[in-house]
Amino acid sequence: MTVPFLDLKATYLELKDEFDAAYARVMDSGWYILGDEVEAFEQEFAAYCGTRHCIGVANGLDALMLVLRAWEIGPGDEVIVPSNTYIASWLAVTYVGATPVPVEPDITTYNLDPDLIEAAITPRTRAIMPVHLYGQPADMDRINAIARKHNLKVLEDSAQAHGSRYRGRRAGSLGDASGFSFYPGKNLGAFGDGGAITTDDAALAERVRMLRNYGSRVKYHNELQGVNSRLDPLQAAFLRVKLPHLDNWNARRKAIAQAYLTALSNSPLILPTVPDWAEPVWHLFVVRTQDRERIRQQLQTADVSSMIHYPVPPHLQPAYADLEMTSGALPIAETIHNEVMSLPIGPHLPTEQLNATIVALKNTIIFFQD
Ligand SMILES: *Cc1c(COP(=O)(O)O)cnc(C)c1O
Repeated sequence: MTVPFLDLKATYLELKDEFDAAYARVMDSGWYILGDEVEAFEQEFAAYCGTRHCIGVANGLDALMLVLRAWEIGPGDEVIVPSNTYIASWLAVTYVGATPVPVEPDITTYNLDPDLIEAAITPRTRAIMPVHLYGQPADMDRINAIARKHNLKVLEDSAQAHGSRYRGRRAGSLGDASGFSFYPGKNLGAFGDGGAITTDDAALAERVRMLRNYGSRVKYHNELQGVNSRLDPLQAAFLRVKLPHLDNWNARRKAIAQAYLTALSNSPLILPTVPDWAEPVWHLFVVRTQDRERIRQQLQTADVSSMIHYPVPPHLQPAYADLEMTSGALPIAETIHNEVMSLPIGPHLPTEQLNATIVALKNTIIFFQD
């Protein structure tokens, strides 16, 4: 049996008639930029997250970047980011000309360690960007308290956390604003690129709405130097089909995570830790081991896919050579990047494939203990 890492087509097949009807509805409407479909999705997603406003944009990177632009964060300003994240979190900061200031994560949750944030704050710091990595919320009450004390904005990177909860409240409603990605592989994914910003701040929402559409409120009247970053109505229509199924799909991810946690509880792998205030949505199921390469090779031999999220931390990427951070500069992030591997997980992973993965993994671990 072959176990792919993620089967995106399975989602299409589960709801094919509804997706096909949504496609026909948009094509028949004759309206192909913004409009009713995007507005309807924005309202539905804001209601889902528990925020007053949602603004659909072209992708997750733009969602983060446009909030920073709207806050007029730019050259000379600093934004605190996790050292352990997908590079897009950092790219949003450098895109507006500001400087990312990395803070190390808690090694058990892989999320921003609140104890280390204050030491990184300088007179130039404008915002903190916690990332709800792998679908697990960051410790937001503590991060928000530090931000309030130092008069900083909080921008959640919720690109991996659609539907996850922190003390009962959803990701996207936990900071001053939040950026989401609807990249196909995310928990709520389009059939192409998409993104959104959620916030309770009406003035920010209005500014981002202009910035995503050439800085314009009224066509051909431009109040701001905006960009073209609009959520596509076809993608909005597809997302409207998927959104009512998100909680159910996240529940299936949780059941798979539970199966892995139970089956691997006595293994030498370091398993994910969930604090009692967190309800993660298991965007990824990530384990840690110093035997990563050998275990992944064995899984490959058994036709079971695995991935690494992520092999190189942002500060060691050639793209950030200008920051002059060498190996050893951020040791916790580097340990995580050297040891993590992700197991297959998704709302459509068949039970047989889950079981085959567990068997292959157990064989691999026994093999290496001999
Ligand atoms: C996917 C992702 C993004 C960027 O989203 P895109 O839609 O691909 O631009 C940002 N941050 C994190 C943590 C992500 O996983």
